[in-house]
Amino acid sequence: MDRKIQDFLHDHHHIRLGWIKAHIGHPGNEMADHLAKTATDDPTVQEVAIPLPKCYIKSRIKDWAMGTWQTHWNTCQGGRSTYKILPNVSLSPQGWPREIVQFVTEHGPFPSYLHRIERQSTDNCACGAVGNPLHYATECPLTESYQMTTPSPEHLTAWYKSVTANQGSINKVVALIRFTTDNEHLFKLQ
Ligand SMILES: [Zn+2]
Repeated sequence: MDRKIQDFLHDHHHIRLGWIKAHIGHPGNEMADHLAKTATDDPTVQEVAIPLPKCYIKSRIKDWAMGTWQTHWNTCQGGRSTYKILPNVSLSPQGWPREIVQFVTEHGPFPSYLHRIERQSTDNCACGAVGNPLHYATECPLTESYQMTTPSPEHLTAWYKSVTANQGSINKVVALIRFTTDNEHLFKLQ
């Protein structure tokens, strides 16, 4: 049967095959659906397996994987500081320098992080406040020359987004993180 269809299609170039969303409302498709249902009840009809196109399967798998990843990213516990800036998963790299990644993920030479990974007994900076990236970028007296305007709490996400999108502030943050890396001892609470 499938051979006959192939031959028929080969001889009739004006007929094109395509996927459509549903059969309801398309008379030709409703007939095809009716015949298909009849065929499934007919014991003399042999089943014909038509493989799905490889590109179609690949794109379905990719959609599924991206969906699973997005759901996980929306609900998991880790990476929340990054989630605020990059809420949507993507296969394209951000192209951020290492220092910006450290700044955004808060995984860097900061007392807040060193304390979390148990390399330091406290998350406080030598100045007394909690030593996280935002503290160094906006308020610590030890990094004054690298600082930017302090954002209000409700504009924090927008502030991070604009800092990571602007070359001038990227350069500033890179210099700041390099300074904190090279002078880690300065920020340790003695
Ligand atoms: Zn400080």
